[in-house]
Amino acid sequence: MSPDRGALADRLKRLIAVQGPIGVAEYMALANAYYYGSRDPLGRSGDFTTAPEISQMFGELAGLCLADAWDRAGRPEKAHYVELGPGRGTLAADALRAMRAAGLEPPVELVETSPVLKRAQAERLAGARWHEDLATLPDRGPLLVVANEFFDALPARQLVATPDGWRERLVAVEEDRFVAKAGPRVSSAAIPGAVRAAPPGTILETSPAASAVVRLLAHRLAAQGGVALVIDYGHGRTSSGETLQAVKRHGFADPWAEPGECDLTVHVDFEALAQAAASAGVRVLGPVAQGRWLESLGIGQRTAAIAAAVPARAAEVEKARDRLTSPGQMGSLFKVVALAAPGWPDPAGFE
Ligand code: SAH
Repeated sequence: MSPDRGALADRLKRLIAVQGPIGVAEYMALANAYYYGSRDPLGRSGDFTTAPEISQMFGELAGLCLADAWDRAGRPEKAHYVELGPGRGTLAADALRAMRAAGLEPPVELVETSPVLKRAQAERLAGARWHEDLATLPDRGPLLVVANEFFDALPARQLVATPDGWRERLVAVEEDRFVAKAGPRVSSAAIPGAVRAAPPGTILETSPAASAVVRLLAHRLAAQGGVALVIDYGHGRTSSGETLQAVKRHGFADPWAEPGECDLTVHVDFEALAQAAASAGVRVLGPVAQGRWLESLGIGQRTAAIAAAVPARAAEVEKARDRLTSPGQMGSLFKVVALAAPGWPDPAGFE
């Protein structure tokens, strides 16, 4: 919990009083910048747990997947390891260890805005460099990129169907509370054909920020070579429905109640991301379910190897594998998409 709890809510209320209701994307951007900027939200004592925090096997297999693609690309020189939103640096530490065993020791470039998490990353990743966004990433040499639970935290816009057409959804203040309400009309050209005729009340989410990041990433891959792994929860096809959610202390909270005090996310629209990437000239593989991807990369063998080496940990490792792969847990809601530069091989796990 931040010391000045509620400080952001007060600031947002003043902002809305002065300039009127704000878009959902602006609300989400300000809330998450404050949230991530003021704490480490990960782990049991925090608000949520991610795959790399559940088991070292997740980062190891991601690292092996990248190292294998690099190997089959002919082991090009000057490859960089790039991670978007690296959290505590756990995934990177596990991935780099696995890469080193495969003969790859790339320099580490981290895209991270939170000062608190940068400090946590610095403790685990000696020699890493930080970037506020993708613009300053090295512009020579292939990029080997991972983004786990990064895109879900980027600001999403909400549109709502009303009897007289689609409208932007805005955040207003009524009786000292944040409420979402329909704002100005938007052109139906902004609405994908598949959902244009939806009944009043239907909400559509789009993430211009996520598409912009993917486009930039894809342009870099096309120009420099490399592959990217994007792992997140979301849907394979663009569809309507509200997925904005707030998570606090490992449970769901009201996204309008305490901006800046809980993690705001939306489900990732993998179809929109794939379109953005393909238009920038890279191949898109997947999405495949996280469970299938990890099984195909050999999480079964890795589980057995750890259990054999450290029998006291056998039950714990088996449980972690189940959390990461079974459909009732993270195995099918979480999905993986790979982007591959022209001339680079398909990363493993997408067959
Ligand atoms: N990948 C990590 C952490 C996921 S939480 C894991 O799997 O454990 C989301 C991460 O994205 C955090 O590191 C957060 O600080 C970072 N982040 C969120 N919004 C960001 C933005 N706009 N730019 C850069 N990093 C951002």
